[in-house]
Amino acid sequence: MSIHRKSKFEVNLMKQAGNVVALVHAAMKDAVKEGVTTKELDEIAYKIIKANKADPTFLGYHGFPGSICTSINEAVVHGIPSNDVVLKDGDIISIDVGATLRGFVGDSAWTYPVGNISDEKKKLLMATEKSLFAGLEHMKTNDKLENVAGAIEDVAKEYNLGIVRQYGGHGVGREMHEDPFVFNYRTNNTLTLLKGMTIAIEPMLNLGGDDVIVLDDEWTVVTKDKKPSAHFEHTVHVTDDGPEILTKLL
Ligand code: MG
Ligand code: MG
Repeated sequence: MSIHRKSKFEVNLMKQAGNVVALVHAAMKDAVKEGVTTKELDEIAYKIIKANKADPTFLGYHGFPGSICTSINEAVVHGIPSNDVVLKDGDIISIDVGATLRGFVGDSAWTYPVGNISDEKKKLLMATEKSLFAGLEHMKTNDKLENVAGAIEDVAKEYNLGIVRQYGGHGVGREMHEDPFVFNYRTNNTLTLLKGMTIAIEPMLNLGGDDVIVLDDEWTVVTKDKKPSAHFEHTVHVTDDGPEILTKLL
C-alpha cells in the first residue's frame, strides 16, 4: 500500500476540484424533482463541470457512460444516467459526482429525496448522513482509520441499518482511487492517519440487509433484498486540527 500525502499546494488544487463538485451538488438539490430524467441531471452536471474548466472524472472511467452516477431507491451506487429513468414522487436518488481539475480529483455523493418520501426513507437518509459526519470526525492527525470505520458502523447499528460490505471509501488525489481502502465497519485496521492524507469517506447504508448484487448492465449495484439504500460522501483532508472537507463551496 502506498499512500500519497498531499502538500499544501496540492490540497489547494483539490479544494478547487472539490468546489466544482459542490457546485454540481448545489444544482442537483434544485434539479431533483418528479418528472426529471437521470439523463437530464447528467447533462446539467456535465455543463457545470465543463464551465468550470474541469473534466467529469467518471465519464469514460472503465467505460462508464455518464458524468455522474444516479442510483435510485434499491440502487446503491454506479447507476447509469438514462433518458428512460424518470424520477417519481417518493423516490430517493443517490448522485455521485467526480470532477478533475488541473490533475486533481474531488469526489462526493449525496442522496436526495424526490417530493414526499416515507418516514423509513427519511430515517435512512438522516442516519447515513449522520454516519458520514461521525466517521469523518476522526480524520485528524494520529487518529486511526479504524475509528472512522467504527463510528460509521456504530451509527448504522444504532438505526438498525445494513452496511454495504463490498464497496467503501478510498484515498483520492491525482487518482480517483488511491490507497487506503476504507471499510464502513471495523476490520482491525491499524493505519494511523497523518496530516496530508486525503480520503473519500463514503458510507452506503441499507434499510434492509447488507448484501448487494450487480445488475446485468454490469454497473448498477442494488441491494439483494430490494430495500432502499443511501450514500453520502465527502473528500476529506486530515489535518492536525481535525477534518477539512474539500468537496464544499469555496
Ligand atoms: Mg463518489
Ligand atoms: Mg468515492
